[in-house]
Amino acid sequence: MTDADVSSQSGGYDVEQFVDTPDYDLICTICQGVLRCPVRAACHHVFCKKCILQWLKRQETCPCCRKPINACMIFVMFKLSKSIGRMKIKCKNEIRGCAATFALSEQYCHSLNCLFELVPCPYPGCRAQLLRRDLEAHARHCEHWLQPCHMGCGTVLSHRTRAQHNCYMQLKLQYQAKCRNHGTIAAALQKKMRKMQNTMAHMKRQIGLICESLQAMDELHKVEEDLEEGSSRSTGARFSSEG
Ligand SMILES: [Zn+2]
Ligand SMILES: [Zn+2]
Ligand SMILES: [Zn+2]
Ligand SMILES: [Zn+2]
Ligand SMILES: [Zn+2]
Repeated sequence: MTDADVSSQSGGYDVEQFVDTPDYDLICTICQGVLRCPVRAACHHVFCKKCILQWLKRQETCPCCRKPINACMIFVMFKLSKSIGRMKIKCKNEIRGCAATFALSEQYCHSLNCLFELVPCPYPGCRAQLLRRDLEAHARHCEHWLQPCHMGCGTVLSHRTRAQHNCYMQLKLQYQAKCRNHGTIAAALQKKMRKMQNTMAHMKRQIGLICESLQAMDELHKVEEDLEEGSSRSTGARFSSEG
């Protein structure tokens, strides 16, 4: 592992990103970077917090003066941290063309707005990575661009469908589809109604048959009664003729 690898793994800020070469006493002796979250050990030597805590895991002596120190006796230097935060740095996208310089503490804020920041296309499914300043131009051709029609017809359009899109035609097609749908519903209802009518006619016939047979039974009953009556009258006559 080279010295460069070690320093890139540790805590400090890269000296190269600063506009002016930082003072020697702002450099962490462990990582050779500009102090990030500086802390002072009991021996008054100053390091990045992360760097010295990592160092103390291996040996509890100061890397500068070899005096014994421990993790409980280190103090964060808030004032120094703030003044380092005010130091001017160059944008990390300088190689892509950003010439902006700003305070170290504004780095995150700048990266959110930097026109030379590499960002993914926001449209789902698009894998394009581009500079923020090229996003707008890309969106004009992006295959995955999707947006509802700006006339408010409700159709979601891609660049390809947008060229031939016509709100009137679209609404007409939708209306026709709806009419077709209503037609099918009406046909189904009519079919159901015919079926019900058939059932009712069938029931009517059945009821008619039942009525007929009831009537027939009634008539039969009457004939039987008449017969019974006739026979009893004839016996009565017999009795009276005998008396
Ligand atoms: Zn450091
Ligand atoms: Zn020391
Ligand atoms: Zn920038
Ligand atoms: Zn895209
Ligand atoms: Zn439309």
